[in-house]
Amino acid sequence: MKEVRLAIILLSLSLFLGACSLDDWTNQADDSEESPSEEEQVEEQEKDENDEQQQENEQISEDNESNNPNAYANELDEEVDEDGLTIIEEPDIKEVVVNKDRKLPEGYEPDELVEPNVRFPFEEDHPKKMMQPKAARALENLFAAANKEGLGLYATSGYRSYETQQRIYENNVAERGQEEADKFSARPGTSEHQTGLAMDVTSAEMEFKLDQSFINTPEGNWLAENAHEYGFVVRYLKGTMDITGYEYEPWHLRYVGTDLSTQIHESGGTLEEFFGFYPQ
Ligand SMILES: [Zn+2]
Repeated sequence: MKEVRLAIILLSLSLFLGACSLDDWTNQADDSEESPSEEEQVEEQEKDENDEQQQENEQISEDNESNNPNAYANELDEEVDEDGLTIIEEPDIKEVVVNKDRKLPEGYEPDELVEPNVRFPFEEDHPKKMMQPKAARALENLFAAANKEGLGLYATSGYRSYETQQRIYENNVAERGQEEADKFSARPGTSEHQTGLAMDVTSAEMEFKLDQSFINTPEGNWLAENAHEYGFVVRYLKGTMDITGYEYEPWHLRYVGTDLSTQIHESGGTLEEFFGFYPQ
């Protein structure tokens, strides 16, 4: 009986103390064995930091996704060859990204190639006049629109086979050395011209040459501003060599279709950035 009474008194007392001085009670509790040990506290803190880090990472990946609505680079399961180059899994899609890290599969040729009905500075038939049909039609529309503006565009170089690219690259290496050649000439299998989706464009004022000064001509300037309306992007932008691997080429147009060309143009960036193929 005594014990019960004592227990009641103690209980009342503790309730009283609890109600009156919660702070004291909590402080006491902090010192009690109930409170987490220092080790546990550290663990807890680390866990919080990890959570924060994870949230940050999630935020970053969300940001990347929103910057690259078409990024599919991470979902691909592409093979890498003995030189460390990725072998492109889907070479026939209009979104294909061919660059120094991404190589067309051996023996790749587009299903169909046609000659666009546009001006060339030479008469004879040549495979370099060819493009994939959808790209050829788009180029015709682009040239027609430029004509209306009184601009004289000329197409100089479209499709290039693996073998042709090999010959060109080897010649460039022989003339300029490999390091220099790699700045402007693609190794075989890594040229966008092999896809039949690219065309180099110039003008009479340029004497049909391909030179960066093309951007200072009305034709070059018009292309930079308007090519995207016809499904093309200027592929190698100024100051993006660390991303594309090539110097500025205001003449090199790449067909991607108008849905993408507009988005890419408005992004102000390169195909690599748009699709999430960041430089290594
Ligand atoms: Zn080109």
